[in-house]
Amino acid sequence: MRRSDHGLDTPRGEHWSARALCTQLVAEGSADPDDWHPIREAEDDPATKRTKRWCRNCLVRQECLDDALARGDEYGIRGGLTSRERRALKAVA
Ligand code: SF4
Repeated sequence: MRRSDHGLDTPRGEHWSARALCTQLVAEGSADPDDWHPIREAEDDPATKRTKRWCRNCLVRQECLDDALARGDEYGIRGGLTSRERRALKAVA
């Protein structure tokens, strides 16, 4: 079990979400929370592509994805994957 499984993955004991890029972007007004819930959550959708690019640059992408898979998040982009991609990943795991 990794430290992030307990939500304590930083030297200061912060939860991984304290370093989430999405939270930073929303706080500075560069993004909207709805950007992680695009209407068309599809690979060819420009809004989905933009959000996934943000996630690729997020320092806690793996922790976010692990959390989404563990909690069974059914909606939205988490850890750089759409809900459909997460379902596919779980299906082969
Ligand atoms: S991987 Fe994406 S959804 Fe997850 S914390 Fe980072 S920016 Fe947010």
